[in-house]
Amino acid sequence: MVLNPVISKLSGKLVVLASGSPRRLEILRNVGLRFEVVPSWFKETLDKGLFKAPHEYAVETAKQKALEVARRMPFKHLKTPDIVIGADTIVAVDGMILEKPVDKDDAYRMLSSLSGKEHSVFTGVAVVLCHEKENEEVDYQLFDFHEETKVKFADLSEDMLWEYINSGEPMDKAGGYGIQALGGMLVEYVHGDFLNVVGFPLNHFCKQLDLIYNCNTNSAGQESTPSFSPVHKVKRKGSKSEVGEHSSKLVNSLSKHTDNGESDVRDVEKTLPLASSRGQTIEEESEPKGEDLQRIIDLMDGFKASKALFTASKLCVFDLLHNSPGLDAAAVAQEIKASVKGTECLLEACVSLGLLKSKENECHKSVYENTGLAVRFLRSDAPYSLHGYIQHCNNTIWPLFSHLESAVQEGTHQHEKAFGKKSKDVFQDNYYNSRERKLRFMNAMHSIARVTGTDVATAFDLSSYKTACDLGGCTGAMAYEFTKAHPGLSVTVFDLPAVVEMSEHFHPPHKDSRVSFVAGDFFNDELPKADLYILARILHDWPDDKVHLLLSKIASTCTPGSAVLIAETMLDGLTPYSALQSLNMLVQTEGSERTEDKYVAMLSKHGFGNTRVVHTKNFLDAFIAIKM
Ligand code: SAM
Repeated sequence: MVLNPVISKLSGKLVVLASGSPRRLEILRNVGLRFEVVPSWFKETLDKGLFKAPHEYAVETAKQKALEVARRMPFKHLKTPDIVIGADTIVAVDGMILEKPVDKDDAYRMLSSLSGKEHSVFTGVAVVLCHEKENEEVDYQLFDFHEETKVKFADLSEDMLWEYINSGEPMDKAGGYGIQALGGMLVEYVHGDFLNVVGFPLNHFCKQLDLIYNCNTNSAGQESTPSFSPVHKVKRKGSKSEVGEHSSKLVNSLSKHTDNGESDVRDVEKTLPLASSRGQTIEEESEPKGEDLQRIIDLMDGFKASKALFTASKLCVFDLLHNSPGLDAAAVAQEIKASVKGTECLLEACVSLGLLKSKENECHKSVYENTGLAVRFLRSDAPYSLHGYIQHCNNTIWPLFSHLESAVQEGTHQHEKAFGKKSKDVFQDNYYNSRERKLRFMNAMHSIARVTGTDVATAFDLSSYKTACDLGGCTGAMAYEFTKAHPGLSVTVFDLPAVVEMSEHFHPPHKDSRVSFVAGDFFNDELPKADLYILARILHDWPDDKVHLLLSKIASTCTPGSAVLIAETMLDGLTPYSALQSLNMLVQTEGSERTEDKYVAMLSKHGFGNTRVVHTKNFLDAFIAIKM
């Protein structure tokens, strides 16, 4: 088999990868395949108990992912792809299927179950060919296969396990390890396709493409359109029926699994319909049902939910119900000085959002109390309270976002429209004219740094660093998390004098002498000497020229081996969180969120390399670069 001609069959076609995995992207990009990435919205919640063998689960998930994207694109992106590739990688050991760990304890459970044993890594792959017909209907043709690789782990000591877990690497990987990076050190042997363990069985995929396209080559050797056995037909937006029509027959796959797991690309029509995640038949409905519209409704209602949370938080509903659980709406209304009718609506909205619980009392009245979520994050005095940041969202981000349209049109922040002031005057007000506003701002920064701090501080092994400087470290919340996580580290918090003078309001009850504060301006003053510089949510506030100015100042104080640790949301072009965070910066600063590649390029200009990123899945990603 010659690889290039297979891949070249796809040139000029709109190829879509229905997966956001950076590892799959890299494998396919490395062989010269050109494609768009449209991560699937299919939730990986199929009931594993319904599948006889683990690979069937991986293949079905891959199919559902690819089909979801193939069906969504004509409506959402107003273009029909030619081919959609879906994949799902799982680890199977002792009859159990392991996907991505949800937290460190889950990672520990997974990795200890793999210790000293052989396990199987399965990747299910689905290829959907889309064929747009003249009447704007789309026919889908589905191929699938799977690949199995056996991997044996060495015996892992508790120390090794936790060191690996604390590196952050396990969190977004099936089975809790990444063989291509640190996880490779845990592996004794691999039998089979290595890339399959990384996330995509490239060799089997190329063979499959060869079969698909060569089966569809006519006797003159010219490529012909693959013969069609439609999965279903969909009409494009704007045509008579947007949602489409039933095809007369549902065909779920053109592949037929043989006993050894190989797939045989023949025109095999199966009469059984595909099972969706809800165990129902995937069909195009002639009339949209409520559940089809749910995602759009959720998006349209998002702002109502945000504002209900902001309002309940501002009116101190969660504090009140913490101190006096079991109040009815009238009693709450009296305490928060609001109407009974309005309070009742707000309390019920909070119940529906999972922030409050209600039950009937002996007089058949609804009474309310906080859910665990509200107890942990919404009380203003909870150790990990987000109250300050929620108020910042309500007072600052919300008015700015109401001018999003102008921000998009003008490409700049909206302080003047939202607050009637230039951004430098808003800054002046926040820092110098109003002590209350300054405290409010610091409270917001403090609350977000408290909840993200541990994950950022433990993203990398920092044991070789003795001194750190947290530039723009505000209340010191992040610095305290760093000293807690690294007993040998001292941290100097460097921030503007107006901030440093108020920082003691936020010191923890047991002050740590390894955290100290220095007042100054990081653009104009000399920076404290350190072997690690922390920049948490700093660079996104500034345009590129200012970022270069700051990085050049840091670089000039650094010796080889020193490091810069950046905590920001990395723009990945994939997740709604990073894309929305980017809009957030558009409405409020001259800066922007940046991609990992952009940070790599910016830092390399100042002599930093050997970069690594950890996606903490907790607001901020952590990025480290070493001075060469
Ligand atoms: N690093 C903190 C965190 O992660 O919560 C705070 C981030 S906050 C978005 C930006 C911080 O940078 C503020 O504390 C602000 O006072 C500080 N800052 C802004 N301009 C500065 C300057 N020129 N010199 C020093 N600090 C500055």
